[in-house]
Amino acid sequence: MLGNFVYANPTKLFFGDEAQKNLAKALMPFGKKVLLTYGGGSIKRNGVYDDVISALKSAGKEVVELPGVMPNPTVEKLNEGIKVARENNVDFILAVGGGSTIDYAKAVSVSAWYNGDAWQRFWVKQEDPTPGERIIPVGAVLTMAGTGSEMNGGSVITNHAARMKIGKVFGVDVMPKFAVLNPKYTFSLPQRQMVAGIFDTMSHILEQYFSGDDDSTSDYLAEGLMRSVIASSRVAVKNPEDYEARSNLMWSATWALNTLIGEGKPQDWMVHMIGQAIGAYTDATHGMTLSGVSVAYYRHIMRYGLKRFVRFAEVIWGVIPEGKTDEQIASEGIDALESWIKEIGAASEITSLGVTPDMLDRIADSTIILTGGYQTLDHAEIVDILRNSL
Ligand code: NAP
Ligand code: FE
Repeated sequence: MLGNFVYANPTKLFFGDEAQKNLAKALMPFGKKVLLTYGGGSIKRNGVYDDVISALKSAGKEVVELPGVMPNPTVEKLNEGIKVARENNVDFILAVGGGSTIDYAKAVSVSAWYNGDAWQRFWVKQEDPTPGERIIPVGAVLTMAGTGSEMNGGSVITNHAARMKIGKVFGVDVMPKFAVLNPKYTFSLPQRQMVAGIFDTMSHILEQYFSGDDDSTSDYLAEGLMRSVIASSRVAVKNPEDYEARSNLMWSATWALNTLIGEGKPQDWMVHMIGQAIGAYTDATHGMTLSGVSVAYYRHIMRYGLKRFVRFAEVIWGVIPEGKTDEQIASEGIDALESWIKEIGAASEITSLGVTPDMLDRIADSTIILTGGYQTLDHAEIVDILRNSL
């Protein structure tokens, strides 16, 4: 049975190969001064920066630039953003990039006018901004599909000194007011990043799918998205400039984590928790940390949610059930997931991400343990899963 929920998604999306033509108009209502934030420079090489600057100009904006947002944005970079946003008293933050830049913009949005330690308040203590508190509105131009950050309230910040990478999910006030999604903007992504984004998308779907046993519309939506992601991934890895595949991957990534498919049901999220703990130790690419642990994780919990794993095997991977036990069917589904991870070139183990056996205990210590999946893990089980992922 679906649980009770309130559903609202305030983000207006502009999608397509001319989506950027809507940017100037979309920016109009949001004041004069725009903080333009972006990453390490890919947008200057692929022409996206020029499109954005010309939209900002035609909207008559005054622009303050804040470049250099790194993959897995850090608390130090957040503090720099707080300073720049405050000193310039910006009216709006425009994030141009992947999940890191958009997550970062949301972090600056809530932290800029808070006078205490934002990391402690929003990420460690997981507090929400209080009603009426000043939040700087955010907009996004997406250049990498995967996180769903363009249409959700998620903001993941890394504190290397504390060995913690923590996600905070903010409410509708912090979600982007609009997002520009041009699939062609993702063509210049290195193949490895494209694949990392594909697995991040898949993982978001799986972590909302592997929980609960009842008949739920959300799970049928999840299955449709998974089938689209798998089909398009196979085309895109062979031909990254296939617009049909890249546009499907971009749209699927948005819907995988804009809260829709998780409504009214429990959710798991332990693969992200383990992946983020790996990230806190290695700074590895997010999607690769997830593919690196997923197979071992799902093999471990399969027995607690057997019915759903059987459905996954049959519906997603076409496993033929005749003459097999439920365990065999479910197990073949995870085998198929593992083959697909290898086929698209995602990480199938964590050694290649810089994880060594002596780190496992500490990575397990840094893993935030959530409930909601088929089984609540203890420390020893996390170490086991990590060992099986090496
Ligand atoms: P990303 O860290 O934003 O970007 C990865 C790399 O791809 C960067 O080096 C970036 O270079 C490059 N890149 C991006 N677009 C490009 C393009 N069009 N052409 C060439 N290079 C391009 O990757 P991401 O996976 O989207 O974001 C990862 C972060 O999001 C992690 O911190 C993760 O934990 C978090 N996350 C958030 C959510 C959420 O719900 N909000 C969900 C999952 C994960 P430049 O820096 O030069 O642009
Ligand atoms: Fe993710």
